[in-house]
Amino acid sequence: MLDPLDSNMMCTEVPEMADQKNITTGGCLCGAVRYEVKGALRDVVNCHCSMCQRLHGNFGPHSKARKVNITITKGDGLGWYKTSDVARRGFCRECGSGLFWQPFELDATGIIAGSLDNPTGLKTMGHIFVGEKSDFYEITDDLPQFDGSSSGELVNDYK
Ligand SMILES: [Zn+2]
Ligand SMILES: [Zn+2]
Repeated sequence: MLDPLDSNMMCTEVPEMADQKNITTGGCLCGAVRYEVKGALRDVVNCHCSMCQRLHGNFGPHSKARKVNITITKGDGLGWYKTSDVARRGFCRECGSGLFWQPFELDATGIIAGSLDNPTGLKTMGHIFVGEKSDFYEITDDLPQFDGSSSGELVNDYK
């Protein structure tokens, strides 16, 4: 049984992805959640917000895709936790893996990049919510940094 993520929200600002035949797969550590993404994924943005730190033990490396392009192919363990008024987080109830960041009002879902099967073909392109970064690590690359949200300024980002 296919169980597509909520795709009710349509947003004309989100660009159409060119290559719809390209399928990327991913899932959690134990295999109770598996998913497929149609078309190209956005490159990875590292989110250093306090919620990501608690959820992921460090910054949250987020890729992103349109909701309609993400299909849950095995959802036995999929749970959702509402982390704010704007979004909920998808995780595996069996093994605890973090999988998704899903805003309620946008036609896009963040995908925790570590859950993608390798090779991902993605690159890290920047850092957001650096103002909330924990003090036990430093950002040592030269990629763009934003104190809070990038507000869509990173290449091919969704607003
Ligand atoms: Zn799992
Ligand atoms: Zn975050």
